[in-house]
Amino acid sequence: MTEIVKGADWVLTEERGPGVPEGIYGVECMTCEAKSPLFDDDPLPIAVWCIHHTQDKPDHTLFLARTERHWRVVPRPHPPATPPANDGGGIAGPVFVGLMCLLTALAGLLPGLQLVN
Ligand SMILES: [Zn+2]
Repeated sequence: MTEIVKGADWVLTEERGPGVPEGIYGVECMTCEAKSPLFDDDPLPIAVWCIHHTQDKPDHTLFLARTERHWRVVPRPHPPATPPANDGGGIAGPVFVGLMCLLTALAGLLPGLQLVN
C-alpha cells in the first residue's frame, strides 16, 4: 500500500488489492448533462465516448474528465520493538548477497587473469 499522508496515529493510504481498480474514469459534457459510464483502469473508453458525443452534437466540445481512486485511512503501524538497524536488513541483505556473488565471480576470474598475464 502506498502511504499518502501520515497523521499522529493514522495513515492515509491508496487502497490496492484484488478487485480494487487503480482508477475509475468518467467524463461529463460541459454543454449538456450527458455523462459517460464509469470505466475501471482504462481512460480510453471515456475518450471514445467524448468523440462520439461530439460527433452527435458538434457544438459539444468541452468535457470534464474525472479519475476516482479509493483511499483508506489505517491505524499507523506501531514501530517494531527491535532496533531500527533491523529495518535496513531487508535491503542490505540482498545487496550483501549480491556483493558476495560478485566477489566470488571476480575471485573465479583472478586465476584466469593471472594466467593471461
Ligand atoms: Zn453534450
